[in-house]
Amino acid sequence: MITQETIDRLVQFEESRFPVVSVYAQVDVDQPARLEFRARVLDLLDRIRPMAEDRSLDRDVRMSVRDDLARIMDAVVDDRKTPGAVAFFSCSGRNLFEEVALPRPVHDRIVQDATPWIRPLVATLEEYHRTCAVLVDRSRVRSWEFYLDEMRETDTFRDPFPRTTGYPDGRGGDRLRHKADEMTKHHYRRVAELLTDRFRRGEFELLAVGGQADELPAFLDCLPADLRVRLAGTFTADMDSATPAEVRASARAVLESHDRAEEKRLVDECLDAAAAGQPAAVGLDDSLWAGSVAAARSLLVQDGETVPGVVCDRDGWLALSGTTCPLCGEAVRQTPDVVDELVAAVIEDGGSIEHVRAKTPLREHVAAATLRFPLPPRPGADD
Ligand SMILES: [Zn+2]
Repeated sequence: MITQETIDRLVQFEESRFPVVSVYAQVDVDQPARLEFRARVLDLLDRIRPMAEDRSLDRDVRMSVRDDLARIMDAVVDDRKTPGAVAFFSCSGRNLFEEVALPRPVHDRIVQDATPWIRPLVATLEEYHRTCAVLVDRSRVRSWEFYLDEMRETDTFRDPFPRTTGYPDGRGGDRLRHKADEMTKHHYRRVAELLTDRFRRGEFELLAVGGQADELPAFLDCLPADLRVRLAGTFTADMDSATPAEVRASARAVLESHDRAEEKRLVDECLDAAAAGQPAAVGLDDSLWAGSVAAARSLLVQDGETVPGVVCDRDGWLALSGTTCPLCGEAVRQTPDVVDELVAAVIEDGGSIEHVRAKTPLREHVAAATLRFPLPPRPGADD
């Protein structure tokens, strides 16, 4: 399954004269779709097959591409694939072959470039947060840990609670109600402590809390501040009837809207910083220049948007167009997606990436970034 280590390894892959073939293909849940899956991948591979026959290329380059196609096809035929998607990265001339399972479908795509095309991997991984989903009522708790769509039940327990079908009138009823409230408070505190311990041990990043709408606020009040900021949201669920699958669906919906809200917040923050004259790049042109000089701290890119451009493999200069690099004078390399080169450069420079799916002004800008320092003037620019 996809990990940050895989992405880092692919980012560090250095370009050479051998092309890298990157393939993404959706894997359907049902088994009869396997033949169809093979046919789809074969179809993708056919798009670059002419390159393996192209006599204008060096023989070892042609052989590398031919081996890539064969290796990917072998991997497609042999293995059992888990539903979601699979990505292959192959550059036989440089001894690269990676197969990566993705937990969710991505668009089928083949890209041939000097470096691995990693954006769908990065976008997928950033969507996943180690999450604790907890279902709580006045005396019971159940919790699950989610990661990459896998779910594991972690804690389940019940604290004492008065057995009653109702509270009698008068002082006896008040006393019973008071006792029940005290026991509930004790239970909530115990659950909060348990979650806090697990959170501080690094077992999860985000929390989704389910229960009865009228009971949740009292429980949330028991969470310490550092855990409360990790609350992605709440959902309504009944302790007795909720199935793990329902909890998973609810938690997923909570995380989905939390992610979209987070994206909007990051875009606002970046555009506000730019408007206030703080170091920021707005638009692809400035963002590419920021990536060229390792200035980007946090890069936001519109999900699904690919833009051709150029890159200098000597010093990492990135731009939308050009024939020679203004920094070193070398000839530039054309790339089918310069945003991917930018994402890889920012990861390599230790910056963070967010693929934005929410509707925000980033749709017009394609990319924006908060910066570590103001952008230097561009080479050859008058001002
Ligand atoms: Zn250069």
